[in-house]
Formats: sequence, structure tokens, C-alpha cells
Amino acid sequence: MVEGQPKTELVYLRDMSRRRDEAKVLKVVPEKRTHAYFILDRTIFHPKSGGQPSDHGTMRGSGFEATIKKAIQYRGVILHWGKLNEGTPIPGPITSELDWEFRYLVMRRHTAAHLLDHCLETTTKQRVQTTDSWLDEPCYVGYAGPPPDQQALSKVQTMAGEMISRGASVKIDFLTREESKLLQNAPNYERLPDLEEVRTVTISGCAPIPCGGTHVSDISEIRKMSVVRAEPMPTQSFRLHFSVG
Ligand SMILES: [Zn+2]
Repeated sequence: MVEGQPKTELVYLRDMSRRRDEAKVLKVVPEKRTHAYFILDRTIFHPKSGGQPSDHGTMRGSGFEATIKKAIQYRGVILHWGKLNEGTPIPGPITSELDWEFRYLVMRRHTAAHLLDHCLETTTKQRVQTTDSWLDEPCYVGYAGPPPDQQALSKVQTMAGEMISRGASVKIDFLTREESKLLQNAPNYERLPDLEEVRTVTISGCAPIPCGGTHVSDISEIRKMSVVRAEPMPTQSFRLHFSVG
């Protein structure tokens, strides 16, 4: 399906708050009569990747409308899969719109997950190393090592709560591969793909974290974060389940 198609411009990497966008359908691949895959020149739909679930929303073009249920990344091309509500889709201009309520929740959770890394590292005075994460349900970040005890968890939650009520800006930067070598202490450094350009997300006052996800612009937007529990996992690791209220 993606053979010969140009890489999709990922609008959400630079503009995370854009919820509606004008783009162009380059290719449509119908699936039965009810569904279709769409390839666009640019997209605001974040695919399922890096622990972040796929965005969903709608797409309206000349004489057709589709509900986009999933965005999938393959070789730099984003495939948008959706259900046809009316008309027959054709290549050409479209307007897409995100299910913003869901996306904004994911943005608050994603920034909260980075804050969790920072607070865990600060309270345990040890470098943290993430193993995986999931920002839909159940929402957690996985870490290497033995799970912290209840006292340590409440310290993490108190620190995060204080930082959220003070507020701090969240900044996006793009580094060259050479510059990104300075990120060796980042919690996900071991899991980074080998990229020409590395995007980092920095909460003011915290270390930058390489990340391709979508974030709120200030941690005060998280409003409240609760560390629900630490779930011990096999192979010397644990998951910190959290919620953003
Ligand atoms: Zn991230």
C-alpha cells in the first residue's frame, strides 16, 4: 500500500495543539465497501507508537466523509484507516479533525509520564531506565529495577503534585544525531531508534527526553497526577500505574 508513496509530513511533531487540518489525499485503498485506508501528504493523526495510542477523528473530502479509527505508521508513511459514513472517497483536498477530548487526555498523560520519570529519578537519587509505556488503558510507565516501596511512591506523587501546581513550560527541540549523544542519561536512551534528527521534550527545570509524542504546553495542564500502584513485573522491572484525574 505504501509502495512509491512519499513520507507523510508529521504535523503533530511541531504543532501539537492543531486539532483541525487541511491536507491532500494521495491514495485511497478501499476495504470491502464500508472501510478504506487513506494516505495523505500531511497529517495531524499520531499513530500508535512510543506508548502513545493512535488518534481518531474524522475526514471530510469532496462528496465523502469517513470516521478515522486508526493511524498506522509504516516506513515513514501514515495509513489512516476508517469507516466510510457517506460518499466514495477520491484523492484530493480534505479537512481532517481529531477527537480532541481523547487526544488532549493522552497529551496530559504523556507529559505526566515524563514528569514521573523526573520525580522518580529525583526521589530515588538514581538514574531511571524505562522499559515501555502505555498511555491508553491501563495507563503506566515500565521501569527497570525493583519496584519502589509505598513511602517512595508517595514522595514521587507529592513532588509531582507540587511541580504541577507551580507549573512549568514544556519545550520541543530538534537535535542532530551528534547533539543527541548528550542525552545518554535520558530514561529511554537505550530504546531510541537511530535517527538523523532527534526530537526532545523538555519540561522546564528537568532534563530533556527524546520523544516523538504529543504534549501539553505547560505541566499545570496535567491538573492532578496520582500514582496508583507499582506492579512488579518478571525480569527485574515494574510498572508504575498512574492517572491524571
Ligand atoms: Zn515521551
